[in-house]
Amino acid sequence: MSAVSTSTPPFLPFTRPSVDERTIAEVGDVLRSGWLTTGPKCQALEAALSDRWGGRPVRLANSGTATLELALRICGVGPGDEVITTPLSWVATANVVLAVGAKPVFVDADPVTRNIDLNLIEKAITPRTRALIPVDLAGLPVDRDRLNALAAKHRLRVVEDAAQSFGSQWNGRPIGSFGDLVSFSFHPNKNLTTGEGGCLVLNNAEEAHRFELLRLQGVARLPGGELEVEAWGAKANMTDIAAAIGLGQLRTIDESTARRRALVQRYFRLWDAALGFDMPPEDLQGHGNWHMFQPLLPRSLAHRRADFLEGMKVRGIGVGVHYPAMHLFSMFRAMGHGSGDFPVAEDIGRRTVTLPLFPAMDDADVQRVCTAVTEVVADLRGARS
Ligand SMILES: *Cc1c(COP(=O)(O)O)cnc(C)c1O
Repeated sequence: MSAVSTSTPPFLPFTRPSVDERTIAEVGDVLRSGWLTTGPKCQALEAALSDRWGGRPVRLANSGTATLELALRICGVGPGDEVITTPLSWVATANVVLAVGAKPVFVDADPVTRNIDLNLIEKAITPRTRALIPVDLAGLPVDRDRLNALAAKHRLRVVEDAAQSFGSQWNGRPIGSFGDLVSFSFHPNKNLTTGEGGCLVLNNAEEAHRFELLRLQGVARLPGGELEVEAWGAKANMTDIAAAIGLGQLRTIDESTARRRALVQRYFRLWDAALGFDMPPEDLQGHGNWHMFQPLLPRSLAHRRADFLEGMKVRGIGVGVHYPAMHLFSMFRAMGHGSGDFPVAEDIGRRTVTLPLFPAMDDADVQRVCTAVTEVVADLRGARS
């Protein structure tokens, strides 16, 4: 054994799911049971999530992209329609609008919350607008009072992209327990995972039935076991293997969220303010779930982000980028977008870095990240002069 290998701390990723041994054993039980696809575990997870959100109907799917797309279909959004959303999200948010044949209409981000700028939405509404897709970036909830008032005034549906905000609250009410349609993702990077998966919170039994058809080939089971196909449907059902992971995660999610908050408090305590980063809005996150911890690089270092990521990696620390403003991707440029369309989103998208934050991190990891950031910034500033 070399001295180097014993003194190098293990690589610290920007996130890592925690799946406990009891959950792993329960997944084993599913694998031994002879029933792997949608079944009793999915039903139990739907019921548990519904309980969590005040009894509203909840249905699972195999991704948070599928739940968003099927939600738009439930709203009847299709060709010729426009859907308003933010350019600061994972591209899935706009891809689902394209998938149903509608047009994503972007509205710039708010410089403080980094979510859709609620002051700019009305200017983007046209007679073709059918729905709004707000995104709770990093788990920080969009102001639901203002958003839902806007939607009601203009008679728009709301498909909340709450992929990142499981465990967040708005005015003391859990995201998912109120509003129109609410979509969550259970991708492994999200606060609660099923491996891959997602769920949609719906308004009533009729919408829930529509969702069941849409997620699995439009197939309905008639009394007596006969099959009937009522409508087109996707292939987007969740497996019981995945649902067993989700049931295990639900037991620990509140503890995990509390741990994230404690780690972030430590970040704020240890962070060197003189470095010149713009920090995430700590005060507003009182009801957030701290899905990600994202300082913005100082503007003078924005063009050095790749070097920053590399400097951190050399020190054994993973840093993510969530996200570049999506209208600058070539697909959206080909649709007519370009630099300067949404200056706030572009500025944030250029400077954002996602530093390690996950429940299994320990306090020393936070110190290690802060020290590395200080060193890397000093290196970049030194090399520049
Ligand atoms: C993760 C994510 C999605 C997509 O979820 P998948 O389960 O990966 O399909 C959509 N929107 C946002 C904001 C996300 O973070």
